[in-house]
Amino acid sequence: MSSTAANIGTLDFSTALSVLEKEYRRDGLDVHSLLDSSKRGGLTYNDFLILPGYIGFPASDVTLDSKITKRVSLKLPLVSSPMDTVTEEQMAIFMALLGGVGVIHHNCTAEDQAEMVRKVKKYENGFILDPVVMSPKNTVGDVRAVKEKQGFAGIPITEDGHLHSKLIGIVTMRDIQFHRDNSTALSEVMTTELLTAPEGINLSEANEILRSSKKGKLPIVDQAGNLTALLSRSDLMKNLHFPLASKRPYSKQLLCAAAIGTREDDKARLKKLVEAGLDIVILDSSQGNSMYQVSMIKWIKQEFPGIDVIAGNVVTREQAANLIAAGADGLRIGMGSGSACITQEVMAVGRPQAAAVHSICEFASRFGVPCIADGGIQNVGHIVKGLALGASTVMMGGLLAGTTESPGKYFLSAEGKLVKAYRGMGSIDAMESMKTGDNAATGRYFSEGDKIRVAQGVSGSVLDRGSVTKFVPYLQAGLQHSFQDIGVQSISELQQGVNYGIVRFEIRTVSAQAEGNVHGLHDFNKKLYS
Ligand code: IMP
Repeated sequence: MSSTAANIGTLDFSTALSVLEKEYRRDGLDVHSLLDSSKRGGLTYNDFLILPGYIGFPASDVTLDSKITKRVSLKLPLVSSPMDTVTEEQMAIFMALLGGVGVIHHNCTAEDQAEMVRKVKKYENGFILDPVVMSPKNTVGDVRAVKEKQGFAGIPITEDGHLHSKLIGIVTMRDIQFHRDNSTALSEVMTTELLTAPEGINLSEANEILRSSKKGKLPIVDQAGNLTALLSRSDLMKNLHFPLASKRPYSKQLLCAAAIGTREDDKARLKKLVEAGLDIVILDSSQGNSMYQVSMIKWIKQEFPGIDVIAGNVVTREQAANLIAAGADGLRIGMGSGSACITQEVMAVGRPQAAAVHSICEFASRFGVPCIADGGIQNVGHIVKGLALGASTVMMGGLLAGTTESPGKYFLSAEGKLVKAYRGMGSIDAMESMKTGDNAATGRYFSEGDKIRVAQGVSGSVLDRGSVTKFVPYLQAGLQHSFQDIGVQSISELQQGVNYGIVRFEIRTVSAQAEGNVHGLHDFNKKLYS
């Protein structure tokens, strides 16, 4: 052992580092040497590891705030894909509640997509501006039907059964719980002693009234006693349970993103989505560097300056440059890396994801344009690697498709495992799922004039992953522990460390990859979290 190496144990940390700097090359590779494609071709996530750093803080101190567009930040850098087996309103609501965001797919009519956006935007509003209202003539059975379909039973009763009519009572589950006869009119069971708050009250005052009362709902009335809104205790509880929830500053509403194409009728679609409250639009294309996207970005920026536009997908700097110049507020990176994707095989175009992410993020960061690393995320480690290579957020399809909140029902696979359907939006299944005229997402892979549909994706199934309310916090905790191992406390610290050559990497040979996975066991149970 050299004398310097023997001495290092007695030196303080910064002196030890400076000795290393002088006498050795820093261990491992800097990001440029790692991803020099002239040496070893384009890499992807499994081809390298990040070397550990110094743990000087608890994992709980790691924060994961990041930008998804120039103007919008998230507390958690996680985004769900605009795919019809991944993101509809349930997924979008829970991704936003947990600190990320869901992008609602467009393989449906504009009206259906706008309705999903509306549901996300209405989910956790302080004042419910369009509550379910009934008249005294409605029945106990009507309330039970609402409870079954929408999950709540606290319903204000007005004279004519509509908002802006005189409030005369309220019905809650307690009023009807032991009432067997579903045909009984609500006038017989409703509570008429009402606690209300006047229109114009601010949210924190109204919250205080609700908090100090034992009531579940607080109707808001105008001077004439007409119902104008409703405040719900369960919404207050939701606020408490989801401290990272993604919202615009000064807004109580959840953040919502949705995807559209670049055809003429997508302009009308976007208008509907904006009316429903949309915050971010994603231009959904597997090859985003096109005249269609450039002109769509310009049109949106002019028509809807309040909406942030994420363009893509791109995998080269040249593609990115065009979209940035057109005014994109964010980019989506990935071509052929998705788990249900056969683009690289069929089209011979694409790029390994790590190479694409690094190349574009380095370029886009000069213009302050955040990037989403989209596709190929199979575990927490892949998320960390995407972020280390410069992505601000990562987008997941297959990883979230097996959760309770994704569209579709669970079914048993041939081997008796609980699964849900997952399909690429360029699969024949997805392309044929919509009637001509209504189709939208299919435009990502297929033009109307095409006589033959060339698939760029497959359809299949993924294993049950339980609810995102458990799975996403697992991803979050995993990220915090990984960052702690690397020795960085935030995404910006990680990316700076990589840029300055302090966070180092190592190539993984095929046998290193085998070593890094479970090996040599007769059998094992890979339970990821508890
Ligand atoms: P995953 O997270 O690896 O499953 O990848 C999801 C991503 O795959 C999506 O966000 C899309 O960018 C991409 N994708 C979705 N459908 C297709 C397809 O049919 N062909 C190619 N890529 C697809």
